Amino acid sequence: KSTAVRNIDGSINNIKEDDEEDVVDLAANSLLNKLIRQSLVESSHRVEVLQKDPSSPLYSVKTFEELRLKEELLKGIYAMGFNRPSKIQEMALPMMLAHPPQNLIAQSQSGTGKTAAFVLAMLSRVNALELFPQCLCLAPTYELALQTGRVVEQMGKFCVDVQVMYAIRGNRIPRGTDITKQIIIGTPGTVLDWCFKLKLIDLTKIRVFVLDEADVMIDTQGFSDHSVRIQRALPSECQMLLFSATFEDSVWHFAERIIPDPNVIKLRKEELTLNNIRQYYVLCEHRKDKYQALCNIYGSITIGQAIIFCQTRQNAKWLTVEMIQDGHQVSLLSGELTVEQRASIIQRFRDGKEKVLITTNVCARGIDVKQVTIVVNFDLPVKQGEEPDYETYLHRIGRTGRFGKKGLAFNMIEVDKLPSLMKIQDHFRKS
Ligand code: ADP
Repeated sequence: KSTAVRNIDGSINNIKEDDEEDVVDLAANSLLNKLIRQSLVESSHRVEVLQKDPSSPLYSVKTFEELRLKEELLKGIYAMGFNRPSKIQEMALPMMLAHPPQNLIAQSQSGTGKTAAFVLAMLSRVNALELFPQCLCLAPTYELALQTGRVVEQMGKFCVDVQVMYAIRGNRIPRGTDITKQIIIGTPGTVLDWCFKLKLIDLTKIRVFVLDEADVMIDTQGFSDHSVRIQRALPSECQMLLFSATFEDSVWHFAERIIPDPNVIKLRKEELTLNNIRQYYVLCEHRKDKYQALCNIYGSITIGQAIIFCQTRQNAKWLTVEMIQDGHQVSLLSGELTVEQRASIIQRFRDGKEKVLITTNVCARGIDVKQVTIVVNFDLPVKQGEEPDYETYLHRIGRTGRFGKKGLAFNMIEVDKLPSLMKIQDHFRKS
């Protein structure tokens, strides 16, 4: 039996289930990102803006005051510790708050302030005195919906009469119930039921429609169609906003299908580079040999912090057990853990409680632990058929140019993997 999964670069990989290879689950990754986030993610790129009406003036703001928000909302923003709009918010907020409302498609890497931006838009357009759903936000999973709801609650702390309700499976509301909460956050399937089957939400009264994490959304069977069916029933004056961390063609097609006459904002990600990384390989006979090679460098890797990557869960577990038995203090991060457990392991590692983290591809991307100085590929990242997985290699080892401290990378290579390593060397033109 095998499962088709998406690689980091978007290509499809068929994984046999007994491989125990950890697959990248977009929604889980996204949640993990939110749980471990500590601050805004920066990019040195300029925000690209494509206006639906290129002749209209383009506003950007440097302060939240310029937005003329309700007093209680501004208070909420400052209470969250925000001093000024993030890079994407500088451009997005004036568009999102404009009169008449404008539609927007915005793409930027996770952590750049998209959620905060649309929560602000929802809260500023809500009328607290009207007791029916006015803002509708679609999220790919239950957990992500709750995360967004938390932001609404924090930012709306002083908007006392504004309330949130979750349209998620398990929240059973009898047909025809009169919902008095103004902001509904939910997953597409349940929202669809609430609108059409249970008649809980009158879509013609929605003023702001948000589609969050569009890239994760289209990855889930049926969610694009559910979302489109919901969108079709919205009034034409409803503001429609779509957000995505990545922008492959498939996301773009979906965005254009669901957001009429949009402005488009993009902020490119800080590129990863191998420039500041010294890369080595150690030629080994077999797994035990690789382990010995790892032990030989162990003394030096624990000077800083190290991440060791394995290709399968089994290998990662084996390595962890070996190391613990040899008296080393290491922790294991793999896909068997819940997202909350992963977050807590990453947090401990960040706090320096463990010096060495052993992991599979679950955390190849997204987790930036700035103090990591050494990365070990205990197994080389390969796709099916031994083709090297360049993208994953870069994600494991690369750093963003701007914050790139010097780093070291070791590849433990079995003789038969040498050709793959040489391909990686040629690909990145780095010895
Ligand atoms: P995204 O939705 O793009 O992943 P978020 O809106 O969740 O980004 O923001 C990422 C992190 O930065 C969150 O912890 C959030 O509280 C914080 N944040 C968002 N906007 C600002 C801001 N203007 N100033 C400071 N921190 C911010």
